[in-house]
Amino acid sequence: MSNRPAERRERLISSVKTAGLDALLVTSELNVRYLSGFTGDSTYLLLTVGGKPLLISDRRYDTQLAEECGGLDAYIRPPEQALPLAACQAISSSGSRTVGFEAPHVSVALHQTLVAGSGAASFVATSELVETLRAVKDADELIEIRAAVDQAIRGFNAVRTLLTPDWTERECALEMEHLLRRFGAKGFGFAPIIGVGDRAALPHYHAAEKKFHESPLVLFDWGAETHSCYRSDLTRVLLTGGATHQMRKVYEVVREAQRLAIAAIRPGVDGRKVDAVARKHIEAAGYGDLSHGLGHGFGLQIHERPRLGPNFDHVLQPGMVVTVEPGIYIRGEFGVRIEDDVLVTPDGCEVLSARLPNDWDWAQVVF
Ligand code: ZN
Ligand code: ZN
Repeated sequence: MSNRPAERRERLISSVKTAGLDALLVTSELNVRYLSGFTGDSTYLLLTVGGKPLLISDRRYDTQLAEECGGLDAYIRPPEQALPLAACQAISSSGSRTVGFEAPHVSVALHQTLVAGSGAASFVATSELVETLRAVKDADELIEIRAAVDQAIRGFNAVRTLLTPDWTERECALEMEHLLRRFGAKGFGFAPIIGVGDRAALPHYHAAEKKFHESPLVLFDWGAETHSCYRSDLTRVLLTGGATHQMRKVYEVVREAQRLAIAAIRPGVDGRKVDAVARKHIEAAGYGDLSHGLGHGFGLQIHERPRLGPNFDHVLQPGMVVTVEPGIYIRGEFGVRIEDDVLVTPDGCEVLSARLPNDWDWAQVVF
């Protein structure tokens, strides 16, 4: 079994110390998973500076905790004790005075219970301590992400050979999910966007009832999720005969915007600058402002740190993975977005999805 969760906890403990805390109560399900390997829910992790980590869970999970979290101590609460009260008890027994909690994941009600039930301990709001660590992927996570990219590409290539004019977007999504699972995925990494014609101009559309023969253009935005819950996120546009001159022009502008942005990715570069490269190219070609950020980190969640966008100053570091997904949307007509998954390497970047082509000739499909 990998000792990665222990390495992650060690790195986290040093940021807990830097923040002047005695302990951190981790309540986010994904953060508990990242730090312990546990894949269940309803479980907290209490990390104390100089003490042993403690999982706080219930009887449903005692075997699973032993199997997945090799050697971590667990407090199994009795059914009559609610999880927040079990956390209070663990905090009191740890003797911690200043305890951090994950403000973005703690409700006002949970905060009130913790404060009322933890005796002398005082609680301090923390934000994204674990998420900041998660932004830089370790070797085990990169294996999972590469697998998720591979499953997504294989599923897409297979469904592409099956496309028929009478298919609705939804029928296509169903077939695609089946194929992703055949290729080893747990399923889609998020509800896929499959948009025919004018539907492709809606950046957050979902597959519905439009049929493939209703337009020569269809946009797919999909990803796979592995059984360890790591995701991929890709977008391609296919042309099914009779594409217009305008479609081709837009396609080439988007493709070049993506190429330029990927060429700008390397350690030390601010996500805003990468975003600006694509944004400027699209604007200079006469298609106005990109209506969304250029890209985002992904992993256990489909959207996580770092962000490539005008509102973020996240600096890229080796081991980060980001999507690069410029788009042009012609309202009421069609849209084109091309999205790839990119790993920041010590001397630049690697396009993890490079084996899925995106040139205009490749995008042509004959029914
Ligand atoms: Zn996407
Ligand atoms: Zn995306």
